Amino acid sequence: MQDTQTITLPEFFATFPKVDLHYHLLGGVRLTTMLALAEKYGVPLTESEAKSYYRRYQHETSVVKGGIAALNFLYPLMRSAEDYYRVTYEVAQDAAATGIRHLELFWNPSDTALSYAEVTEAMSSAMAKAGEEWDIRALFIPSINREKSPEEAVAMVDAVLNYPHPLVPGIGIDYKENDAPIEHFWKAYRKAKLGGLRLTGHCSEFGLHWRNVETGLDLIHLERIDHGYTVLDNPELTARCAREGVPFTVVPSNTYYLKKWPDAGQWRKHHPIRQMALAGMNIIPATDDWHMHNTNGAECYRVMVEEFGFDLDGVRQLMLNGINACWQPEEIKQQWRQAWAAEFDALRSKLAHEPQIDPAQHISYHRSQTA
Ligand SMILES: [Zn+2]
Repeated sequence: MQDTQTITLPEFFATFPKVDLHYHLLGGVRLTTMLALAEKYGVPLTESEAKSYYRRYQHETSVVKGGIAALNFLYPLMRSAEDYYRVTYEVAQDAAATGIRHLELFWNPSDTALSYAEVTEAMSSAMAKAGEEWDIRALFIPSINREKSPEEAVAMVDAVLNYPHPLVPGIGIDYKENDAPIEHFWKAYRKAKLGGLRLTGHCSEFGLHWRNVETGLDLIHLERIDHGYTVLDNPELTARCAREGVPFTVVPSNTYYLKKWPDAGQWRKHHPIRQMALAGMNIIPATDDWHMHNTNGAECYRVMVEEFGFDLDGVRQLMLNGINACWQPEEIKQQWRQAWAAEFDALRSKLAHEPQIDPAQHISYHRSQTA
């Protein structure tokens, strides 16, 4: 008997298989969990105060300060391996519910009270359990907190190298970039590379200069860039990144651009993600901070289609870009390319109708792929 059941577009966005390669563990802590951790440790915290940490990120003039305050607040609330287990497990559960099959999770070892090994093992146990319950995997990306010193970054890399783990393929860097361009951390990155770790980094976020992307690529040898939007200010560098297929994890819910263009029409039209796609760059949509950005795996792709004008051929390409850019072994990636593409096509055929794209907004995105 033929399966004639149709699905809606929201169901499609929530079920087609996808990766999320730019996900900060603490951005995924549920409000209820934040409150429970505060209670557990006797930290006075009302529900409205807890909510304000999310809201502050979204609404304050100083986006960066609000977000960082929230993160600085959350790490001290996680004091045992059990807490990291809980948060990681819940993050996996929420991600799986929006069709995410693979997460690459950033966290900051230099901000935790526990040792690097303790946190890594707790997160690893949580993912083992999550993988039994849902079709989801994760890798972890310990990240340099660039608001701390370059020496602390070197110490972090030492900790990672001294405790090799199959779920830890490489390192990243995050937090406020303004006074801490990536070259300050050359020593930590060089050590990581010599130690066989893979490298990604937040560069050219918050409207900062395009040279941070160039420095990330040519001096630090990043293989993936997180954000990187102002690369567009340099057409030659943009063309080079497109030609070389440098993967950029891009965040549709990025608060800097939401503030820059509060008018939705302007935002849609001028958003760098659209311009990067039109330039043929290798982009991968990502959620960054779920609760602070009020987003999730399905919403992230809804924005790509309904706001930025991607059609479903484009979304299929974005899904494949994500597999190609992830840090799983090649044999797993090969399986995913075939299985996920087949699943995507089967789900798509069940849609009652394809999304209606405004012709003036439509983006035809067909990057030729290098695996
Ligand atoms: Zn980020």
